[in-house]
Amino acid sequence: MSARRTAGTAVVAEAEERPGPAPDRRGAAIAAVVLCALLVVVILVTTPWHPLPGAGRPADPALDFTRAQIGRGDAFNRALDPPAYAGLAAGLLVVLLLGLTPLGARLLGPVTRPLRRWPLRLVGVAVVLAVLTRLAGLPFDVWSQTVLRRYGLSTEHWGGWFTDQLTSLGVTLVIWIVVLLGVHLLVRRFPRRWWAGAAAGGFVLVAAASFGYPVLVEPLFNSFHSMPAGPLRTDLLAMARRDGVPVGDVLVADASKRTTELNAYVSGFGSTRRIVVYDTLLTSEPRAEIELIVAHELGHAKRDDVLHGTLVGALGAAAGVCVLFLVLTSPRLLRRAGADSPADPRSVALLLAAVTVLLQVAGPVENLVSRRIEARADMHALDLTRDPETYVRMQRSLSARNLDDLSPNGLEYALWNSHPTGPQRIAMGRDWARLHHVPVPAPLVNSTSP
Ligand SMILES: [Zn+2]
Repeated sequence: MSARRTAGTAVVAEAEERPGPAPDRRGAAIAAVVLCALLVVVILVTTPWHPLPGAGRPADPALDFTRAQIGRGDAFNRALDPPAYAGLAAGLLVVLLLGLTPLGARLLGPVTRPLRRWPLRLVGVAVVLAVLTRLAGLPFDVWSQTVLRRYGLSTEHWGGWFTDQLTSLGVTLVIWIVVLLGVHLLVRRFPRRWWAGAAAGGFVLVAAASFGYPVLVEPLFNSFHSMPAGPLRTDLLAMARRDGVPVGDVLVADASKRTTELNAYVSGFGSTRRIVVYDTLLTSEPRAEIELIVAHELGHAKRDDVLHGTLVGALGAAAGVCVLFLVLTSPRLLRRAGADSPADPRSVALLLAAVTVLLQVAGPVENLVSRRIEARADMHALDLTRDPETYVRMQRSLSARNLDDLSPNGLEYALWNSHPTGPQRIAMGRDWARLHHVPVPAPLVNSTSP
């Protein structure tokens, strides 16, 4: 099946030279269909499609946001749209050009040719592709960053920002190299059926990354310290106990060195579970609102949303790997990419293109599910605090401070919204109050105020 194109591509490792047995495309196709069907069933069954039965109030930004707040949010999001869309398009264009035309092979050939051992060739390929794709996105990220700075959302100096970019490039490279070495080891050892080992490996890797990320990667970007003893710490730990969610510690992240955004999350499992709050939250928000934000995070912990998301993601990765096997063993696509076989390091450009397209398709589905899970955590926060009044104020404050898009169009909503919009969350809070016979919070703005 090896589609030898040019005689001049010189030194090709022995394993790439052998035509080898035909790859088991039928087995991989069946596995892909079965795993995708399983994924669809798991998503359909486990997603809380109706987090608050009986809710149906329409979202209306004008009820709680002043015209000035709405105008500022609109202006910010309009300014952020061009770099966001252009960056997305440029990123896709570059990986598709590299992966689906001989351009990638032509660029990678000179890198791999002088290297004799295949692991070194893979490292070379990974470095070139990671740097190229990062460079393609960089101008648009710089552009977005200037918008964030202009609107006061970013507090980071350019030096720190570029250091962050380098750190994340380093993390990406380490992950790529580990994945590529693993895949190519399997391709060489099991040329017919490497999809089975790679699918299992994909599952394990996603699970390991999800558990390892807070411990290994987050400390590269932020430092954390225990919240000092005081009424807030005591309240938060007491609320977690009342909720039946064991929490080992409350940590504060030094997010203010980078952003003015407000956030909190719960990470870890069992006794290593900890509540993390951004320091930006502590300096700007009243205690009742911080408690509500943490109550939302406890909702995630109580329902094991992280574990659930990890397992669904891991299943998706296993299904995706079977699809990737079909792409990488397609003689036509390999020919397009200028690679001889899946064992040829130049096929990595095709792999990257296929992974990027799969992730692009998965994103809106992930957001769709995530929005329902976030709404359920909101309802948990209300069940726990029974304080819709503070909840509405907190949501308004979060949306206004973070300059969220209060009424995104359908495409933006599908592509970028992992949470319901602020007005949607507020509408659901009022529905919660009505359904639980608690006074429904009045609009925070009367319609005639500026
Ligand atoms: Zn959440």
